[in-house]
Amino acid sequence: RAKSGGRGRYRFFSAGMNEAMEARRTLELDLRRAVALKQFEMVYQPQFDLEHNTLVGFEALLRWNHPVRGLVSPGEFVPLAEEIGLITSIGEWTLRTACREAAGWPREVSIAVNVSAMQFRSDASLLATVRSVLDATGLKPSRLELEITEGVLLNDTDRTLEILHALKALGVRISMDDFGTGYSSLSYLRRFPFDKIKIDQSFVSGSEDAHAVAIVRAVAALGASLGMRTTAEGIETHQQLARMRAEGCSEVQGYLTGRPMSAAAAAGILLEPAGPDDSPALHLASQK
Ligand code: C2E
Ligand code: MG
Ligand code: MG
Ligand code: MG
Repeated sequence: RAKSGGRGRYRFFSAGMNEAMEARRTLELDLRRAVALKQFEMVYQPQFDLEHNTLVGFEALLRWNHPVRGLVSPGEFVPLAEEIGLITSIGEWTLRTACREAAGWPREVSIAVNVSAMQFRSDASLLATVRSVLDATGLKPSRLELEITEGVLLNDTDRTLEILHALKALGVRISMDDFGTGYSSLSYLRRFPFDKIKIDQSFVSGSEDAHAVAIVRAVAALGASLGMRTTAEGIETHQQLARMRAEGCSEVQGYLTGRPMSAAAAAGILLEPAGPDDSPALHLASQK
């Protein structure tokens, strides 16, 4: 369709750009209404301890059920929410919903909530928000884990460290998410006592690759000597699970051991005593 001439090409690209801007504008308007229209929900992915082969917690993951587009991935709308200043209210909704739902579960497992870098930077009252949510939902602070990425620590470092320390003083635990994909990871581990390091999926799925395995091994050892737990993210195969266990990771999370599920389904699997024959915990035990 594009003409080879300069003007034709210009018009072609310009039309494409208008379309993209229009689509973005529509998505933005939809996102602004999504909370009020109750289009968000949280799903929960189980996390297993590899030493005892037990379910120890869930990560809360945000889902947007768009009436026309269907399920929109957080990878797509969280950056947009950050850009248009909606992340603070969406983030508060997320935290409140995850804590309320987890507080109603039949076992006191941990609940991990993602906090984006922008949320940290723009929500002056993040600490107050966490306090008020814990208060209102009755969730024990020790059950709450906040997952932050390296991006959180890039700016305003002193203020950020202050907030992180205050959160820890409340009894909340802090995890470093997607470890190894950002910048200066090692200096951050030195400056702040994270409770957990989540090893990014890219190192886990590369478990055929000697370099990826060497990195997992080194991070697991680093975590152990710093007194931090290590979680291997995105486990999809038995082979990856066996690898992560052999390399000394403390926990796993991934489609193999459990897909993200509704709060009701999470409550359901927490009721299973030892687990039925197909329970992921048994899966884990048989691999030992
Ligand atoms: P993340 O925190 O690293 O979350 C893990 C992502 O990996 C989730 O994608 C999860 O569904 C996916 N995953 C888990 N196991 C597997 C596996 O075995 N294989 C594969 N291929 N993927 C797996 P999701 O839910 O699409 O979330 C993507 C990212 O969006 C998250 O990465 C997190 O950074 C962000 N996010 C999700 N929920 C929230 C939220 O409530 N608030 C904020 N601020 N960010 C969120
Ligand atoms: Mg996470
Ligand atoms: Mg992650
Ligand atoms: Mg990620």
